[in-house]
Amino acid sequence: MNQSFLILFFAFLSTAPATDLRMFEAVEPHMGTLFRIKLYAADGQQASAAFRAAFDRIGELDTTLSDYKPESELNRICGIAVGHPTPIGEDLYRVLAASQKLAEETGGAFDVTLGPVIRLWREARTRRKLPDSVALREAGARSGYRKLHLNQAARTVTLDQAGMQLDVGGIAKGDAADQALAVLGRLGIHCALVAASGDLAFSDPPPGERGWKIGVDSFDRADANFTSVLYLRNAAVSTSGDTEQGAEIGGVRYSHIIDPATGMGLTRRITVTIVAPRGIDADGMSTAVSVLGAERGMSFVEQHAPAAALVVTNGKTIQSRLWKKL
Ligand code: AMP
Ligand code: MG
Repeated sequence: MNQSFLILFFAFLSTAPATDLRMFEAVEPHMGTLFRIKLYAADGQQASAAFRAAFDRIGELDTTLSDYKPESELNRICGIAVGHPTPIGEDLYRVLAASQKLAEETGGAFDVTLGPVIRLWREARTRRKLPDSVALREAGARSGYRKLHLNQAARTVTLDQAGMQLDVGGIAKGDAADQALAVLGRLGIHCALVAASGDLAFSDPPPGERGWKIGVDSFDRADANFTSVLYLRNAAVSTSGDTEQGAEIGGVRYSHIIDPATGMGLTRRITVTIVAPRGIDADGMSTAVSVLGAERGMSFVEQHAPAAALVVTNGKTIQSRLWKKL
């Protein structure tokens, strides 16, 4: 089978900074993954306070947005927002609004109401057995982004039907990286990187540098030597793909990303990296473009400047117009 995948790595160049700032680094587990923060601060005390505040903010978002925690706001509204507008907090509203916008723009390729289907696939991957087709159809009938309605002025959500389940796993880490950078900025830390597995966001570059150095490698049979080195500042980069989270069932590899049109885990090998100004957009778009596939995905990206994309699929590495200019 033709495996293709990308690895994101980051490094900082150690030319002597014309500044008193020093680099500090810390890691904490949140949202089912490790969040890593690198920042430049005047001293250890400022850095520790900044780490605490940023990780606390990520923890707060996890408490609100988790689909694993029964008491998360995301899960609670599924029980109470059926048939009538229900007020929600700013964080949940921001993430749902970005998700619904992306759902509209992609004809539903990105869909946070897929929760019931995603749950069946999670179980299927663990048991290495395909979901029951009747159960999948029933779960699909409880999904669909058109059944979720937001009212911006009142900051409410309404769900059309009982038994709906939301899953913002395709967009929340990018948002958390944005929000952590915002907290750091309010504390006077303007030069930082927040990384949550494939989702990274950056504020100003390290002192004396033009950006945070990011390497995107394509390990693909047909394109083994492709490497893209980017210098990013006040931007975000996200990779979605079928690397470690998919599962092989009956000789077929199914991704953890689901095509809402079929209710099936993706079986095409595709890895998508998106660079965008904000993590919430880079994260959501990388998942969405994986579902759309190379052709439709690229035309979506080309219409969403300044976002840029690198897609690796079927032994081919495809760069969007703006990716070539990064
Ligand atoms: P990512 O790693 O950012 O591409 O996100 C993958 C996660 O997004 C999955 O683990 C699911 O929680 C969720 N997801 C899967 N399929 C979709 C989809 N079509 N639209 C939105 N979210 C999805
Ligand atoms: Mg994503």
